[in-house]
Amino acid sequence: MSKRDFYEVLGVSKGADEREIKKAYKRLAMKYHPDRNQGDAASEEKFKEVKEAYEVLTDENLRARYDQYGHAGVDQSQGGGHGGGADFGDIFGDVFGDIFGGRGGGRRGPARGSDLRYNMELTLEEAVRGVSKEIKIPTQVHCEVCNGSGAHTGSQAHTCPTCHGSGQVQMRQGFFAVQQACPHCHGRGKIIKDPCRKCHGEGRYQKTKTLSVKIPAGVDTGDRIRLSGEGEAGEAGAPAGDLYVQVHVKEHEIFVRDGNDLYCEVPISFTTAALGGEIEVPTLDGRVKLKVTAETQTGKLFRLRGKGVKSVRSGQVGDLMCKVVIETPVKLTETQKDLLRQLDESFSGAAAKTHKPKSEGFFEGVKRFFDDLTK
Ligand SMILES: [Zn+2]
Ligand SMILES: [Zn+2]
Repeated sequence: MSKRDFYEVLGVSKGADEREIKKAYKRLAMKYHPDRNQGDAASEEKFKEVKEAYEVLTDENLRARYDQYGHAGVDQSQGGGHGGGADFGDIFGDVFGDIFGGRGGGRRGPARGSDLRYNMELTLEEAVRGVSKEIKIPTQVHCEVCNGSGAHTGSQAHTCPTCHGSGQVQMRQGFFAVQQACPHCHGRGKIIKDPCRKCHGEGRYQKTKTLSVKIPAGVDTGDRIRLSGEGEAGEAGAPAGDLYVQVHVKEHEIFVRDGNDLYCEVPISFTTAALGGEIEVPTLDGRVKLKVTAETQTGKLFRLRGKGVKSVRSGQVGDLMCKVVIETPVKLTETQKDLLRQLDESFSGAAAKTHKPKSEGFFEGVKRFFDDLTK
């Protein structure tokens, strides 16, 4: 069975600090504590789950490993070694396919391998253009020595005499008959008398696998890419789980992304803003010229069509929105200050209505507001 997410178990967010985690743990531990729930197996399981989540999330190292690799990062001690590059021919058929869809049917026989999660950080450029990355994941891999059977070369696994191969037995609990994993073969349905030396009868073993992952162009934070069958190998030849690569795009120095559109801020001089002119603005493909119209106010957005991001799903291309911000000149010389005072003089008095309509309108409004107050 797949394990639940530790953050979910404690009911806290991924960014929760130690204090929040402790608080959540205390509350849940009280609720499920065995002393308060004598003989209740479900509560006992909950208590164990909560305790494990707490132990991992309050240990800085373990938490970092868990965040990066999921359960596989903290479940077992690591084996060494390298895997070969995998063949990813058919993976992208189900990019963004159904995520964690229901896998019906009760547990019977050897367990399917767990799904794994890998958090991948990308720069904006990588996310926009697509990239191939090599990743290392600690996981369970198929044992090639016994070909997953768990039996030593030349020997065979035998059908479990207790459950006759079903992996399950019926137990009575009070009035109820409950199906449980067979205690003799641990739910596998088979008994291995002479286990494989490499995997000790598990049919799989712990190894850090190296994979090359191709990220399609246009992905964004929150996108998940499924690599079928690249999760943990199953027990004794059962199917492997899937690997989910969770994309996180790092903040960019210049651009902010919103869906397929990119936003950036460009400073312009107040002279250019007033008189109009041409400025250079950055795009992901280099600089382009942008015509600033005369009498441009600060904060105005200029749209550059087709200079945004191409959507990984629809193929539509977004726009680049450039917000111009007027830069007030600094470290002025006496001459410059003088010129500005002269300029300002030309705006005042009767000319103000023509040259500064916004300021005029605003101050008239303010005046009316105070006049009304004093009436
Ligand atoms: Zn083996
Ligand atoms: Zn059995």
